[in-house]
Amino acid sequence: MLISCLFCKIANKETPADIVYEDDKFLAFKDINPQAPVHILVIPKKHIPSVDHLEVQDKELMGEMFLVAQKVAREKKLSPNGYRLVLNVGKEAGQTVNHLHLHILGGKTLPWP
Ligand code: 5GP
Ligand code: ZN
Repeated sequence: MLISCLFCKIANKETPADIVYEDDKFLAFKDINPQAPVHILVIPKKHIPSVDHLEVQDKELMGEMFLVAQKVAREKKLSPNGYRLVLNVGKEAGQTVNHLHLHILGGKTLPWP
């Protein structure tokens, strides 16, 4: 855990969040500023700043994170209509929290890009 990291604090229950899923390695919670009717963030409890910081030993964890996203999306009835998974990486992509997080967006037809 990184003491100054907002999502580490949420994972550690020091900062409240509307949690929709939790297991030993992941947490999923509602985004505070939703961009779609359903907007949930999936985070690993391990502090990894972004996809750009992944190491070979994280590859299983990342696969599991997508399975968590699939599970949450199904629970929220986003399947089979569809949903979008987004990973912003770095400043120019709009990453504002430097703890890896997978956005799940759905509940409406989503514009692209
Ligand atoms: P990013 O722009 O880094 O890809 O996404 C960060 C997301 O975290 C944003 O969608 C933002 O609304 C959300 N967020 C920022 N602070 C908080 C917070 O304190 N609680 C929750 N639940 N979401 C947050
Ligand atoms: Zn963190």
